[in-house]
Amino acid sequence: PIFRNAQFEISIAKPSGLPPPSGPEVAFAGRSNAGKSSAINTLAGHVRLAYVSKTPGRTQLINFFRLNNGALLVDLPGYGYAAVPEKVRRDWQGLIETYLKKRESLIGLVLIMDSRHPLTPLDRQMINWFAGTGRPMHVLLTKSDKLSRGAAAATLQDVRAQLRPLGPLVTVQLFSSLKKSGVEEAERVIGGWLNG
Ligand code: GDP
Repeated sequence: PIFRNAQFEISIAKPSGLPPPSGPEVAFAGRSNAGKSSAINTLAGHVRLAYVSKTPGRTQLINFFRLNNGALLVDLPGYGYAAVPEKVRRDWQGLIETYLKKRESLIGLVLIMDSRHPLTPLDRQMINWFAGTGRPMHVLLTKSDKLSRGAAAATLQDVRAQLRPLGPLVTVQLFSSLKKSGVEEAERVIGGWLNG
């Protein structure tokens, strides 16, 4: 369980605040309200490591958590909240883009999407752009407990089919923080990045 006993390390608000690389980093991104904080807390086996349902549009921070094996979990601010002022949106984009583009210690991205509304235009933009960096990306289709078994399976197939042209570095699975399902599969994929 690679995320167990993760410890908060630092928050940054500006690219200039990025700490020097001190271990491989796995970043988590997703639309605001997609379920990212809940997924991080579920993987970490921790009720509130990442803050759930924070007011969107508030100061946007990147939070770093240290894992047992020395790697870092990097929680990126949620994107796509419509009511965010333009300046906040621009600052957010600068922070995320700088991090995802320039960070040499970043080894992979976990992208969280609500399984009921996957692949919004902003998600597609993020996925296509990140795939171009040549690093692996693992998509968690979360809140799968809100779909019937059949609908969840159909969504998984459909999203996989839509992302297949991006090649084998992009992988997709179902996840539920409520039911704690999909945890082992996510650990296997991310553990593979850390050990690869
Ligand atoms: P974030 O903005 O992406 O960090 O999203 P949060 O983790 O704060 O979750 C947004 C809302 O979705 C909250 O009300 C959560 O309780 C709910 N939620 C998150 N994950 C799940 C899940 O797997 N199942 C269900 N049913 N609700 C979830």
